[in-house]
Amino acid sequence: MRYISTRDNTIQYSAAQAISQGLAKDGGLLTPCYIPKLPGKALEDMLGMAYQQRAVYIMKMFLEEFTVKELTDFAGAAYGPDKFDTPAVAPVRAVDGNTHCLELWHGPTCAFKDMALQMLPHLLTASLSKTEEDKTVCILVATSGDTGKGALEGFKNVPRTKILVFYPKDGVSEVQQLQMVTQEGDNVGVAAVVGNFDDAQTGVKRLFSDGAVRQELADQGYFFSSANSINWGRVLPQLVYYISAYCDLLRDGKLAPGQSVNICVPTGNFGNILAAYYAREMGLPIDQLICASNSNNVLTDFIREGVYDRNRQFYTTMSPSMDILISSNLERLLYALTGDSAEVRGYMDQLGETGRYQVSGRVKDKLQKCFKGYFCDDRETQRVIRSMYDKHGYLIDTHTAVAFSALEQYRRETGDDTTAVVASTASPFKFCASVLEALGETAPAHGLDALDQLSAKTGLPAPAPLAGLRDKQVRFTQVVEKDRMVDAVRSLLG
Ligand SMILES: *Cc1c(COP(=O)(O)O)cnc(C)c1O
Repeated sequence: MRYISTRDNTIQYSAAQAISQGLAKDGGLLTPCYIPKLPGKALEDMLGMAYQQRAVYIMKMFLEEFTVKELTDFAGAAYGPDKFDTPAVAPVRAVDGNTHCLELWHGPTCAFKDMALQMLPHLLTASLSKTEEDKTVCILVATSGDTGKGALEGFKNVPRTKILVFYPKDGVSEVQQLQMVTQEGDNVGVAAVVGNFDDAQTGVKRLFSDGAVRQELADQGYFFSSANSINWGRVLPQLVYYISAYCDLLRDGKLAPGQSVNICVPTGNFGNILAAYYAREMGLPIDQLICASNSNNVLTDFIREGVYDRNRQFYTTMSPSMDILISSNLERLLYALTGDSAEVRGYMDQLGETGRYQVSGRVKDKLQKCFKGYFCDDRETQRVIRSMYDKHGYLIDTHTAVAFSALEQYRRETGDDTTAVVASTASPFKFCASVLEALGETAPAHGLDALDQLSAKTGLPAPAPLAGLRDKQVRFTQVVEKDRMVDAVRSLLG
């Protein structure tokens, strides 16, 4: 399987090259040149398999240069009992007769980023060996919360890697900050940046493109890479759980062979729902993909009108991981819909120049055939949390609530009550204060006290990795100005 740039399909890489480089030289995203079809008996074959085996089965179809033995070792290490609090790894919970919730937050950081970030380090280090890269990789991450911690947990103590995470000093929740500054491992670094998320993100991009810094690193035996969701090694592990969920529903008699489902995903950077689209392309019987957004509803408008326009107000919401106006992975969908890298490059050039592009009528028709877009605001998010809890005794986080609202709107508007699977992307305990308020409680001033209060209110235990934060030592206190982020790099590598 070859990987091509979404902006120039004459640029071709092997899987290992695609994963170790992260991004194509021309700024495009590296994407498989075709999506393989699931063999006829695949779903049946996978019914009796554990999640780890299903992961090997599916990933192998995209990673010819990796052996089954390698992938089996990776899946065992990534999704083992020391990492995930349930042997199902990504369990499907029934909400009612035709609504199921795919819980993607049973990993070490309690958000769905673990599903990919536990696998990526294995894929990346193996890719470095396969491409005979002899330097140590230094992963830089700018985070607004979940990705940073997910990447730190994934890469901690991984040989031949160092990881450095920058978070905005006053821009993350108390729980998220504690999760990062108490991070264990001897190859990790964490620094607060004086500024907001954009400052941190811009600073990281500047480090990536600073020739002098790169040379200084190379002299010490390092090179920079990225762990964000533009890397194919982060998208691929996400295909697995959609296929696995379908197998679970088949196994449990909730679906008949061949029966269609709709999938609803709370969306930010478009990585998670893109994985569902690829699973559909592989032949998984998915009918509609419902793309759920919060007030930053740039994707809702795009799906409805075929116009992507980031020139709009940015809202800070209670589902912060979806507060995003440029959904990077949409570029991969555009390539899949057009099959034309020159057309994609045209759209991306316009996005860079004017912040806006309009797709052709043909692309819009294809898009609307399988995608539906809905959004909701914070009030509606809290209403849904309350109503799910009251009606079904099921506690969900703010991001998942946005998805349930979208599904409700879709069903009301279309009358289509096809069995639906909703992706649940974070533990409700990660967004305690908003969840408590939704249940009519006043959240305490301190983040960790809110964990106890939510436990007391619901009778549910807080996930161990969050409850355990109280006893952890703070290891990282470095604060850097936004134009001095290189100091943090030097203190990690020096
Ligand atoms: C990252 C994240 C999302 C958005 O996922 P994308 O793949 O970026 O669309 C949704 N919910 C939570 C909790 C997240 O951490």
